[in-house]
Amino acid sequence: MDIINIYDNSDKLYYIGGVVRDKLLSVKSFDVDITYVGDAIEYCAKFGEVIQENPDFGTIRVNVGGREVDFASTRAEVYEKKGHLPVVTKIGCSLKEDVLRRDFTINALAMSVKTGEIIDYVGGQEDLENKVLRVLHDKSFVDDPTRIIRGLKFRVRFGFDLEPNTRKLQEEYLAHINYDMSYKRVKKELIETFNLNSQYAFELFVKEGIYKLISPEKFDIPKVNIENLINKYPVKLPWIIYIGLLPDLSRIEFTKEEKKIIEDFRSIGELKDDFEIYKAFDGLALESIFLYAISKDMKSAFRYLDVLRNIKISITGDDLKNLGIAPSPKYQEIFDYVLKEKLKNPDITTQDEISLAKKFIN
Ligand code: ATP
Repeated sequence: MDIINIYDNSDKLYYIGGVVRDKLLSVKSFDVDITYVGDAIEYCAKFGEVIQENPDFGTIRVNVGGREVDFASTRAEVYEKKGHLPVVTKIGCSLKEDVLRRDFTINALAMSVKTGEIIDYVGGQEDLENKVLRVLHDKSFVDDPTRIIRGLKFRVRFGFDLEPNTRKLQEEYLAHINYDMSYKRVKKELIETFNLNSQYAFELFVKEGIYKLISPEKFDIPKVNIENLINKYPVKLPWIIYIGLLPDLSRIEFTKEEKKIIEDFRSIGELKDDFEIYKAFDGLALESIFLYAISKDMKSAFRYLDVLRNIKISITGDDLKNLGIAPSPKYQEIFDYVLKEKLKNPDITTQDEISLAKKFIN
């Protein structure tokens, strides 16, 4: 989404944060944030149909000509509990106070809606030109460690680097992590970062020890290039292939589907033959198979993906009924027997399968 045109004569309205950064970088923005120096809920409702408002934060979402735009009141915050959501101390503060609560200088730029003038209190434009990420103060990562993952995301997305002091602060924080933090926000940033499907991001994540925010135990980067793997076989949840490899995932709250992906791959042990491979992977999410491939046994996983998964037996319960066999758990044994034979010889016909079933019963 690009900057939207709002025709308003107020000099208190500013595009703010990512949208200004993206405009200066000439890349597309995901969303448009606009801040009003004062009470946005009162002022900005006139721009269109109000979709929702949150008086605690002074924010309002409005449909402006078919686009949902977030308007925020300028606000100041403090991190009373480090690593958790900040507490709003003032709504309707100055623009300068509002930008000083932000994560990096490149995300702390404002642009006047009325004149297009860029307001830069923190040197964000220079950092954009030099392609560096710089925190606004030395306690930034202590206040909110999710910024370390946000930093990784922006470095990878824009090809930026950490400026030296920010790098030093990251190292210091990672050497003294306070694990009492909001992992819901950590998870959101992990998803956004690793859905970029970047091996480079994963290498930085491991090499710089950023993974320790989630899983403290030492972790080495697997030999497999995950980015290439996902490019070859697209999956629904790319991020989980990167994160699922960490030994300790107890801090992250997974959905039922995500939990199953992790549990499935962890529960599979050594696979000795085609039949065992087939039975282990049949019906599993591709994500689980990849996690197994990367961390345990690449050969079995690819034997399944490239060859075995295309093999299916054709006989059904009806065929067995027609042979005079009453439905019972025996059916599964028969199907498994036929499958075992078919994996050895995939070209057999349905008639051959029926003969095999008969042979098994006899
Ligand atoms: P994206 O293009 O990924 O949406 P964005 O910069 O717009 O990037 P958002 O997560 O939408 O990111 O946040 C909007 C703005 O809010 C940021 O540009 C930044 O100024 C501020 N912000 C977001 N997260 C934090 C944080 N953890 N700490 C401080 N400021 C933050």
